[in-house]
Order: sequence, then structure tokens, then C-alpha cells
Amino acid sequence: MCGIIGYAGDESAVPIIVDGLKKLEYRGYDSAGIAVFTKDSFKVVKQKGRLVGLEERLENTTITSNMGIGHTRWATHGEPSDVNSHPHLGSGSKIAVVHNGIIENYKQLKAQLERRGVKFVSQTDSEVVAQLAEYYYNGNLLDTVIKTANALEGSYALGIMCLEEPDVLVAVKKDNPLIVGVSEKGNFIASDVPAILKHTNQVFYLEDKEIAVLTKRAVQFFNMDKELLTKQIETITWSVDSAEKGGYPHFMLKEIVEQPKVLCDTIQSEIIKIPDITSFNKIVITACGSAYNAGVVSKYVFERLCRFPSIEVELASEFRYKDACVDEKTLVILVSQSGETADTIAAMREAKTKGAITLSIVNVVGSTLAKEADYTVYTAAGPEIAVATTKAFSTQLVVLYKLAVKFAVQLQKISADEGRKLSDEIASIPDKVAEILTKIDFIQKYASTCIGYKSIFFIGRNIDYAIALEGSLKLKEISYIHSEAYAGGELKHGTISLVEENTLVVAISCCQRLYSKIFSNIEQVISRGAKVFLVSNVEAAEETDKLSLLKLPNIHELFSPSLSVIVLQLFSYYVAANKGLDIDKPRNLAKSVTVE
Ligand code: GLU
Repeated sequence: MCGIIGYAGDESAVPIIVDGLKKLEYRGYDSAGIAVFTKDSFKVVKQKGRLVGLEERLENTTITSNMGIGHTRWATHGEPSDVNSHPHLGSGSKIAVVHNGIIENYKQLKAQLERRGVKFVSQTDSEVVAQLAEYYYNGNLLDTVIKTANALEGSYALGIMCLEEPDVLVAVKKDNPLIVGVSEKGNFIASDVPAILKHTNQVFYLEDKEIAVLTKRAVQFFNMDKELLTKQIETITWSVDSAEKGGYPHFMLKEIVEQPKVLCDTIQSEIIKIPDITSFNKIVITACGSAYNAGVVSKYVFERLCRFPSIEVELASEFRYKDACVDEKTLVILVSQSGETADTIAAMREAKTKGAITLSIVNVVGSTLAKEADYTVYTAAGPEIAVATTKAFSTQLVVLYKLAVKFAVQLQKISADEGRKLSDEIASIPDKVAEILTKIDFIQKYASTCIGYKSIFFIGRNIDYAIALEGSLKLKEISYIHSEAYAGGELKHGTISLVEENTLVVAISCCQRLYSKIFSNIEQVISRGAKVFLVSNVEAAEETDKLSLLKLPNIHELFSPSLSVIVLQLFSYYVAANKGLDIDKPRNLAKSVTVE
């Protein structure tokens, strides 16, 4: 959360920073701001609200500068307001800072500084960094940043400039991502690759407590003992277009439509190194949000194929604090698009402390989870910009299927030949997804009739229930319609009391063994006045004014969530689009949840 960009080079800094912020706005959009170096002062423009407001203000000004920092905020401490927006300055306007993360000891530090006469203007935790750095400043920004970082507790990615060193931009991080990009026309810091992809694909990933010192011609790295470090440069393979909307009204729709391609890329990339599953007696899959839902789906797949004694799915935010029963005989699988999700990283570290072996499934090469886990399998989703995940979720699913098949063969629960047949089924997913995408018009039309509902329920059984969880999450994230997902068999245990005349129930039915069971549930809710949107691979039901049907292509039941989810994504998208909502940046949410 929070997007940071910084630039030092030959070109005009403001357009580069603003353009970078546009690419980072998915990380937070409570406020936006920039601070650039002008002749002998910082020019700071920042304000509450979306980036577009800041852009409008900047359009009418000419600021000559070749170096600066920018920030798009997801507020943790202090309401979204002009004064709480970043960058923050020290009271003498000598130091400018952008911060991503939470300074946990900011109250103590603030009190100490206030006792020494420093005047704070904002309610944020971040301002303390600027004030402290200014207080410590001794004529050398690198020394000052080291001293400041040593005093901070919590998490941070920081971009820092000092008025007395007009050529230098310093960055440091701990538990929040920060990359350094290098190019002929200058050097960059950023929270994420899309922000600088237009200018360079050559990046360094900062590790915790590493410091980058940028000038327009050079970048140097230091540790906290001020020793010079040699770091490996990485080449990003994502295309520039992949971070642009490309004519679509929203990134989310573009990303839904990209799924056949990215699924194909992910299915075709070979999983090179995985642990020997026969040396474990327990698998724990842990993640947050949609990635957690991918874990819930995969639990059914692992169970059915691997017949493994113990497979658990845990929310990472719960796992990290529950003193989990894991040891060296446990494989902990961590799923995260960004590889920077704070709770998932903490869960990984907790698991490792207990001796467990960790395997991460991430989309971003070089991310913390990728670097720290014992094993990593990448999804090939490319950059995902919309806050509500679609293609990253789908690619996580297929990686989990592939792992389940490999483990099942290792465990000799299925033969190599059966494994190949299942792999062929997985390989058929992209074409079948493409077939579903030909039904966009139908889904759009149907969704346009659904914008008035106060609540929409999702039901399914077994793996259909697992994917119902994701359908429901997607809908509430972007349409703000209350939604819950229930296992069909649970309806009678309480939930059915919520069903009344004209409630909408989305039913998913792709498990042949359970067709009749879920159809009974459908009858039960229709008898109580509900309308049902049935997403199924069977045409067993007649469409009526109470029942609408979307028929899916056939596929092995275990992989059917990869097809039904496409319909659920499109349904949510078009409900939100018909409500005229800001789909890519839903209220209160942000992508890449790097704070607790
Ligand atoms: N804690 C800082 C603030 O509220 C940064 C928040 C974040 O990185 O999400 O301004």
C-alpha cells in the first residue's frame, strides 16, 4: 500500500513522477503529492483525494526540476487530508520524505522531538521520519538516513531528499517493497515495476535495511554500517503495454480478457524445483483475500488427488499469531500476487522459525516472499493493476493444480499416466476460458438487471462452494453490494432465513456427483421467492423467469473453478460498471497490502 516514486536525472521530474504515480495509484488513493527540488527550495504540491486532482493543479504550473519524489497514500495514521498527505517536510523545510508503512514507535519519537521544540503539523506517523532526519542532519544525508532508520521501529520504504544536497536522493526500506531503476536518462526509486517500466526494465531490488543513494548519473548501495554493497541488476520481462489500459474502460476488464494468454503462459512454464512431498506429513496453505480463496479451492484438489493426511488452509493474518502446529515435517504454501503482503510474509517467517519448509506462489519476481521462501513458483500473470484481482487469482489456481498433480504422482496416489491426463485437462483451461469470454454480452446484459439488489448470495457445494467464496468477495469489493457465500448444505442451518421475495442467489454447479443436491437447494430458495443465476456445466434446468442459466464448457470437476470464476468476475465487473463505480479503485481498498 502507498505508492512511492522518485527520480533524479536529466529530464523534467514532474511529468515523470506524476506518470509513475498513475501506475501506482492502485496502491492507495486517499491523497497524492510530490516534492521536487527547485533552485533553492522544495516545491511541494499535495492534496487529499485522487491523483487526478493533483494533476489538474500541476497542469497550470510550470515547475523546473530534475529531481523529486511522489506518493499516493493509503492512510493508516491520520485521516486523508491535505496536511496528512505525503511528502512530509521537517520543520525547517530541509528534509522531504515519502513513506510507505507504519512507524510503530512514532509516538515516542514525536514526544522526544516535541520536547526539543520540534513542531509537528500532521497526524501521521510518517512526519516523524522527516522531523527526525532533519533533527539528525549533520551535513551528510547518507549518515542521517542510517541514524534515522536505526531509530525507527515498524515497517518502511522511504524516499528522502535534503535541501543541502541537491543532487542526492536516498532510499531505504524494511518490510515494504522498494526498487531502484537505472536508465540513461536518470535513475528511479519505486514501490513497484509498472511505475518505471516506461523508462527502464533494469532494476535492483532493495533488501531490508539496504540504502540506495541515487544521483542522476549513478546509484550506490550501502548497508547500515555504511559499507558499499555490490548488487545484482535484474531485467524485467513485462512489456510496457501490459501496464497500460489499452483501450479498455478499466484495467479490470482488460485483465479479465487477458486470462487465456496468461493462463497459457503460466501452464506452460515448467515448475522446476519443488520439495519431495513424501518427506512431509502436513500441508498448510496460507494467504489473504482472493489468494486465500485460491487456497480454499486447492484444498479440495490436494485432498482429492493426494489423499494427504493433513491439509489446512489458514488466513495468513490468523496463522501468524496462533502459534501454529507446524514443524520440519510441514510444507507451508504461501500465495500472494505481489509477494509483499505483510501478513503472508509474517506467516512465512513464523513458519520458518518453527522449522517448516516454505513454498511461495507469487507473481512478482524478486519480491520478499520469492526471495525468502525455500521454494518459489511464479505465476505469469504480468502486472495486475486493478485492485480486485482476476488474472493473478486464475494463475494462482493453475499453479496450485499443477502442484497437486505433481505431489499426487510423487505420493503414488495417481500414476504418471493419470498425472499426464490431468495435466492435459489443465492445459485445456485457456481455450475454455476464451470460449466463456465469447459470452460477455450475455453476462453484461444479465448483470445490468442486478444493480438494485441489496444483497446477493452465492451458493455451491464442495469445490463450487470454494469458488463461490471468490465470486462473493469480488462482487462486494467492487460493487459495494452486500454478499455472502454459503455451502449449499448449510442453507437450512440458518442462512435460508435471509432469502425472501426477489433475493438473488448465484448458484454454481460443476460437480456431477452433487448436481441433484445443489438443484434441491435452488428449488428451496426459488420456493421462497429468490431468483437464481445458475452457472453450471450441465443443462439440466429449464430457464424460467426465476432461473437464468449460463452454461460452461466441460472440464474435470477439480479444475472447473477456473471456468466458473470467469463468469463470476464478469458478473461482478458489469454489476459495478452498470452502477457507474470506480471499478479499478474501489472504496477503502488498495492492492498489495503491505501493512498489517
Ligand atoms: N503510515 C503512513 C500514512 O498513514 C503510510 C501508510 C501506508 O504506507 O499505507 O500516511
